[in-house]
Amino acid sequence: MKKESKKYYLLVICLFFFSNFSYSQNLPFVKKQIDTLCSPYFGGRGYVDSGAYRASNYLAAYFKKSGLKTFPLAEDYFQGFKMPVNTFPGKISFSIDGKLLKSGTDYLVDPSSAGISQTTLQVVRADKNFFENYRNEIDHLRGEKYALIIDADEIESYKGPTLAHKINMLHPTLVVELHSGKLIWSVSRTKLKKAYIWMKKDLWPADAKTVTVDLDEKFYKRYPVRNIIGYVEGSKHPDSFLFLTAHYDHLGRMGKDVYFPGANDNASGTAMVMDAIQYFSKPENKPEYSICFVLFTGEEAGLVGSKHYTEKPIFPLDKIKFLVNLDLMSNGQDGMMVVNGSVFPEYFDKLKKINTDQHYLKEIKKRGKAANSDHYYFSEHNVNALFFYLLGEYPWYHDVNDKPGKPSFAGYDGAFKLIVDFMKGM
Ligand SMILES: [Zn+2]
Repeated sequence: MKKESKKYYLLVICLFFFSNFSYSQNLPFVKKQIDTLCSPYFGGRGYVDSGAYRASNYLAAYFKKSGLKTFPLAEDYFQGFKMPVNTFPGKISFSIDGKLLKSGTDYLVDPSSAGISQTTLQVVRADKNFFENYRNEIDHLRGEKYALIIDADEIESYKGPTLAHKINMLHPTLVVELHSGKLIWSVSRTKLKKAYIWMKKDLWPADAKTVTVDLDEKFYKRYPVRNIIGYVEGSKHPDSFLFLTAHYDHLGRMGKDVYFPGANDNASGTAMVMDAIQYFSKPENKPEYSICFVLFTGEEAGLVGSKHYTEKPIFPLDKIKFLVNLDLMSNGQDGMMVVNGSVFPEYFDKLKKINTDQHYLKEIKKRGKAANSDHYYFSEHNVNALFFYLLGEYPWYHDVNDKPGKPSFAGYDGAFKLIVDFMKGM
């Protein structure tokens, strides 16, 4: 009996311990959210098959289910607007002398490329000298349809008028840019006048004669997109807001067969915001300041969602006491970087002290201002804002392999606890 009661006592202590630290036990939830956000249904959260739109519905439903409040100017948790975007909804194929290349890995379509229906083109390999004498080259190419093959490594050495200008003078039907480094995809809000492909240099055969290309492309001048916004009311300072933000969009689809899941970028930050919503929605964790959760759209298209928010805020920006933006939060074996850490040293020191006392992350580093995620336009509008991203070897940035199973999740728990402590300590 005594032994039993001792056991019972121990169990109570354990339960108490775990309830205090329950915010560190949520990794299965986070992984499930990342799996969901990276599934084909959401198409890489882009602008083909309404991928980003579907994701926004899923996330707003989560805001609602969690009991977040809405603002009058973001009814149903949405702040909608329109942006231009170039997309690749259908067929994408590219072959050299009849040999088909693998889209997404062997080559990428330049995000601003024009479309082209299936065409076979003779190859003109432009070396450095070709551009030195490009006016002469125009003569014998005039009237011909051809693909101009250029070397990305040589581009910087081309002198005189810009390369784009020279290429325009040459009127190629297709440009193939050869890269020795990693191919990194993105999203474009503009469209070129010609078809443009980036491919791996080591796959280009020196004796290539023809290429065959087929790119289905669609440009939207005004594509509808939405930020997602909701909040938990603070117990002491309901009129003053802490913002926790992340972008939920990614690169979307490059044709029917290829999409960019964006597990680390930024299903991970999105899932961490969802995790924080779960935490701060519990009555026992009610914050002193109101906490506003924002999931931005269009980050990959150039910080479009957060820029729009700062231009059309749904309440005055000076009511934001502090903003923390999260991006790339699932691979932190080497710790965490704090962008704007040297702009706001007092806040950085606070973070550092929490981390030293609690041993949450291996290391916290700081850097200055950078327009590399959604904190940027807020700090440009004099809002105190930091951007956190985890540090660790992760070679799949903006490629098709940034998918579930790749992130290590090292540092996830530590970063989550650090953010919660930091926000509670405001
Ligand atoms: Zn990102």
